[in-house]
Amino acid sequence: MPVLGAIEAGGTKFVCAVGTGPDDVRAEVRFTTTAPQETLGRAVEFFQRQCRAEAIAAIGIGSFGPVDPDPSSPTFGYVTTTPKAGWTNIDFAGTLQRALGVPVGFDTDANVAALGEHRWGAARGLDTFIYLTVGTGIGGGGMAGGRLMHGLLHPEMGHIRVPHDWSADPYPGACPYHGDCLEGLAAGPALEGRWGRPGETLPAGHPAWRLEAEYLALGLVSFICTLSPQRIVIGGGVMQQAQLFPMVRQRVREMLNGYIHSPAILERIDAYIVPAKLGSRAGILGGIALARQVAGLPPE
Ligand code: ADP
Ligand code: ZN
Repeated sequence: MPVLGAIEAGGTKFVCAVGTGPDDVRAEVRFTTTAPQETLGRAVEFFQRQCRAEAIAAIGIGSFGPVDPDPSSPTFGYVTTTPKAGWTNIDFAGTLQRALGVPVGFDTDANVAALGEHRWGAARGLDTFIYLTVGTGIGGGGMAGGRLMHGLLHPEMGHIRVPHDWSADPYPGACPYHGDCLEGLAAGPALEGRWGRPGETLPAGHPAWRLEAEYLALGLVSFICTLSPQRIVIGGGVMQQAQLFPMVRQRVREMLNGYIHSPAILERIDAYIVPAKLGSRAGILGGIALARQVAGLPPE
């Protein structure tokens, strides 16, 4: 089987890998995200070095955004209006494509991680599901009818509005665009901003987690009612707080109040709202899955 390349491009770090799947990652490198030219140059160098050993059939990229994932658009493969300094209107996919001369697949970090979970993780066999990451931001992607979710641009599930009771939670929110959107209230920086210390240092019994679960449940209820996902897979650093899962499930069920009449929610919610099975590997493995698609290789 031909070898494939993958990039998980985050606002803080890049991961590049070559391989064919979870049990066969042949080389991997990670480095800090600096200026675009330098960062993309390092990625190109890594793949050029790997190419000397074995030809790479295609590369799949999951990128921080916003991005242009529409192959028919003149700015396909660009990081577009990102607030990250220096990265506005950067031709990410084109730079790799020109330097390496192979097909390049390009999508949001969340969609590519969703693809990884679909191929090898917690979303296997489903055609309509959501993947959510709760970390430095909140990103959402997934599939509808067996295709990764696109449209006007791509989903921005972290930026939905959720009810914010200012008397119970006076924290104004951390989103530079909206203040108290879901991401502004519930991503890692909001935990740190509200409680004065990062989430990883707050004990499991801290009131932070009840409030966190409340906001996440409000978000999930909106996604369930609009997209009707067959499952919701959640990853990201904040979800390492495993106590969040039972609290989120309980509040989702209470908020829906029996209206979505499916045994998945009424009887088996433990298997409906689940942790990412690939953990922090979802993004890079999803990149390999995407590369396989753009290389035109048949599914295994
Ligand atoms: P990124 O979103 O940058 O890819 P992560 O998913 O690791 O990276 O998210 C980082 C955020 O998650 C930080 O705000 C950090 O404080 C928070 N975080 C990381 N680990 C934990 C943890 N075990 N518990 C709670 N919050 C965590
Ligand atoms: Zn926002």
